[in-house]
Amino acid sequence: MKDAAPGETVLELKNVSKIYDVRQGLLAAPKTLGALQDVSLRIQKGEILGLVGESGSGKSTLAKILLGLLQPTSGKVEIFGQSHESYDRRWIARRIQPIFQDPYSSLNPRKTVREIVGLPLNIHRIADRSEWDGRIKEMLDLVGLPQRLIDANPAQMSGGQRQRVAIARALIMKPEIVICDEPTSALDVSVQSQILNLLMELRETLGLTYLFISHNLAVVEHIATRVAVMYLGRIVEETPVEKLFDKQRHPYTRALMESVLSPEPSLGVPDVQIEGSFPNPISPPSGCAFHPRCAIAGPICSAERPELKGSAQERVACHMR
Ligand code: SF4
Repeated sequence: MKDAAPGETVLELKNVSKIYDVRQGLLAAPKTLGALQDVSLRIQKGEILGLVGESGSGKSTLAKILLGLLQPTSGKVEIFGQSHESYDRRWIARRIQPIFQDPYSSLNPRKTVREIVGLPLNIHRIADRSEWDGRIKEMLDLVGLPQRLIDANPAQMSGGQRQRVAIARALIMKPEIVICDEPTSALDVSVQSQILNLLMELRETLGLTYLFISHNLAVVEHIATRVAVMYLGRIVEETPVEKLFDKQRHPYTRALMESVLSPEPSLGVPDVQIEGSFPNPISPPSGCAFHPRCAIAGPICSAERPELKGSAQERVACHMR
């Protein structure tokens, strides 16, 4: 298959839902939980799409569906214009790789860096075994780790070094798309920006496309070219990052922005802080799911769910916008 051209759609979700049946007790009737509801989203070659929302908003479910680790209940997923179902997991893994939140649990502490970074070469039977060391050292250079660490194991490394090992492992297959799921949130604030800068450099050098998932809009704003905001399983807004500061944003996006601009210095890169608690996804609020927490809600908001409307680059789901 030829490489996608800049701007071409490389990943697309079309009306994707993921619904679970949940029992809250042995004798209770099952209820449904909409982890993802009617989500349509496009990711274009070379962009960094930031996906932001609180814990439980559906971000990680969406990532697992894109990685082929979960099947949607309904809707279609396309990779490079072809249905997800036309590819096997191995094919998807060669083109789409994840970087997870916690380098402490995602790396086997008893393996060496050589074994961890080289594992995908072994699984996918890529290149001759005699070439592996060269490929692994090339990756260590690329992610800024000294080659002498090739025989070290994660237990001897700092959090930042471990995350660099995880990035090297993700990139050794030369994927085109990387799904970064909260890749800095387990790291010290001082190390977070080093890893973000590394990811941006790698995108330039290797022509990568990122889906960058975070609960923290400050981090997303730093790295993304476009932002999609999720609330309770649905996309409520999509916007180019430079428009995040516009006054006419979705009230949830504005609340996220305001929490980012919190004057509390001890927060460092602050987390989401919005009035009211996140609703129970098993019994979501009627109409617009954000209405119990929304400062500008009107009578229509609890009665009708707003549609996501606008252009391909800029969409919003709010009765007042
Ligand atoms: Fe707020 Fe209503 Fe807009 Fe929902 S639809 S975000 S409740 S104003």
